[in-house]
Amino acid sequence: MSEPIRADLDAIPLYVPGKAAPDALKLSSNEVPYGPLPGVVDAITATATEVHRYPDLAATALTQRLSERLAVGPERIATGTGSVALIGHLMQALASPGSEVVYSWRSFEAYPIAATVAGLTSVQVPNAPDHRHDLHAMAKAVGPDTRAIVVCSPNNPTGPVATADELDELFDSVPESVLIVIDEAYREFVTDPASPDALERYGDRPNAVVFRTFSKAWGLAGLRVGYMVASPEVAAAVRKCVIPFAVNVAAQSAALAALDAEEEMRRRVALVVAERERTIAAAREIMPGIPDSQANFFWLPLAGGAVDFAAHCQRLGILVRPFAGDGVRVTFGRPEDNDRMLEALRSFSPTNE
Ligand code: PMP
Repeated sequence: MSEPIRADLDAIPLYVPGKAAPDALKLSSNEVPYGPLPGVVDAITATATEVHRYPDLAATALTQRLSERLAVGPERIATGTGSVALIGHLMQALASPGSEVVYSWRSFEAYPIAATVAGLTSVQVPNAPDHRHDLHAMAKAVGPDTRAIVVCSPNNPTGPVATADELDELFDSVPESVLIVIDEAYREFVTDPASPDALERYGDRPNAVVFRTFSKAWGLAGLRVGYMVASPEVAAAVRKCVIPFAVNVAAQSAALAALDAEEEMRRRVALVVAERERTIAAAREIMPGIPDSQANFFWLPLAGGAVDFAAHCQRLGILVRPFAGDGVRVTFGRPEDNDRMLEALRSFSPTNE
């Protein structure tokens, strides 16, 4: 890249959206397949006459509601344009020359991008062979320049969770000056009792940071609303980095309406969870090595066949998310969607593509 652009941005791949036929079955972005929750469309519509005004800068009503719901003070909450924006802002707040962030790999693809853009050095720790985080190895990777460890639980794109025992040990073995960031974008889908609600279990630790989002279980991916809970100091630092008015008028209103529809959200999540158990069991009869998932997607460890399988699915009108040379992430859809995807897996053979 030429001057005056920073040379280290060369290492970041340009995001190229997948080319989907308009009628393709989209199982590629970990969205829920059921449309907006009841009340959300009306809430958005009601904001239409307000769009000549800036939104509430501090998303006061939403922050207050989250504060009550999560039993943490509003000074400990930051809201942003999706949790991915807040992850970037946290990294900006932590970056100084030579400072590092530790996270597992493979994990959420935004971590290395956010780290590089912020100016943090990434220290990537390979997942265990069963596609789970290796929290021992992550703790060992902490050095004098480490500012944060990011634990993605459930892990995107492989699916497993970190357990309470593993996280307890991590908190006990890492100095308090290192933030332990738990990305719980998929928390609502977790049913494994070994996986703690990070806010309930670690919320009082000064170095705990928890990310959540309205994009997944709450069905608001298109509106971009996420939040973070941390110590008042860390939350304030992140708020300083957030672009003003980050959560727009419609998004603030829709998030409040979504919270009013929690019962329906839980009902939909239960449908996804039932499909998760059924689909993974069926897929395991077709291919070995599929890890457990506690999220609304699962991982096909296809290694060199990943891109071919995605192309095979695309020919069948199904969009999935390949990670070249590694595996394919497939989001659960409606039962008939998952059956179509299983049929694609059954008819896939890397050699005759
Ligand atoms: N964290 C994880 C682990 C994710 O998978 C995602 C979305 N793919 C996000 C954060 C960001 O979600 P959003 O920006 O939509 O809130």
